[in-house]
Amino acid sequence: MIIVLRPDATKKQIDHIIDKVKKLGLKPMVSRGVERTIIGVIGEEDILRVQPLEAFAGVEKVMPILKPYKLVSREFKSEDSVINVDGVKIGGKKLTVMAGPCSVENFEMLLDIGKKVKKAGASILRGGAFKPRSSPYSFQGLGEKGLKFLKDVKKETGLKIITEVMDTRDVGMVEKYADILQVGARNMQNFNLLKEVGLSKKPVLLKRGMSATVKEFLMSAEYILAAGNFNCILCERGIRTFEDATRFTLDLNAVPLIKQLSHLPVIVDPSHGTGKWDLVSPMAKAAIAAGADGLIIEVHSNPEEAYSDGEQSLVPHRFEAMMKEMHSIAKAVNREI
Ligand code: PEP
Ligand code: MN
Repeated sequence: MIIVLRPDATKKQIDHIIDKVKKLGLKPMVSRGVERTIIGVIGEEDILRVQPLEAFAGVEKVMPILKPYKLVSREFKSEDSVINVDGVKIGGKKLTVMAGPCSVENFEMLLDIGKKVKKAGASILRGGAFKPRSSPYSFQGLGEKGLKFLKDVKKETGLKIITEVMDTRDVGMVEKYADILQVGARNMQNFNLLKEVGLSKKPVLLKRGMSATVKEFLMSAEYILAAGNFNCILCERGIRTFEDATRFTLDLNAVPLIKQLSHLPVIVDPSHGTGKWDLVSPMAKAAIAAGADGLIIEVHSNPEEAYSDGEQSLVPHRFEAMMKEMHSIAKAVNREI
């Protein structure tokens, strides 16, 4: 249920309503928009039927949310959410590009890639220190040492850092280094992890599970918001279909669809979505044309030697060329890059 407040509702009136909702044993989630404040109420909504909240001063209307996801829905918040990552905004007119290697391998390579992607226009550096590998015998990531390299490159370049957290036990450590916590596709329905990152003060990038429907994806995001963290970014990264000519099938339908259903920013990962470096640039452009708020791209100086995902990594000069070509696409959809 959503309680929409009048634009002129006072703080005293709002506090009184919040108090009342809490006394009814429900959880109020307050969203302060530019125009007005709205309060989402999670819990046994039936109680509200016997409590006429419309009668309270400051209330404009009370509406049920019919979708299973509430806080992430457009009904809850009609304007687009803009996530502020320590000065870098995700979800506004300006597109956000995150780029870097699949795995953090060593400091020198990370710094080299960081400098190059920054020069090409990226504002956030990606790199996994904890890697979710299909085989237990594959490289699992450098762990905290990798996080330190990310932080050091941040210091030198000014890039913000995004890195994956795979385990509830690591959230405290990863959030000390990262500006955005990445929850990977394989953990999209790790509900304990979602609750844990939902308690963090750091923004979260939630990747779509490879076999998850859009509804399941949004329900997972709902866990993060319900725990109190509204700074959630959604990432389409490809799903499993019968098609095996590409690593995954990048579901670009999901981009405008999610934009209709949710106020959260959506970014696209054409690297994992295709699995082939020469498909990355075309699909990145298609993603922006479809309305994505940004991209996350794997870049490696020597893909042949990459510890993971070399086949889908762009070399820096190709990344730079893609960024240049992106200007006209962005302009065509009234965005900036
Ligand atoms: C990654 O970003 O390197 C990654 C493992 O992505 P995903 O969780 O989408 O497979
Ligand atoms: Mn990867």
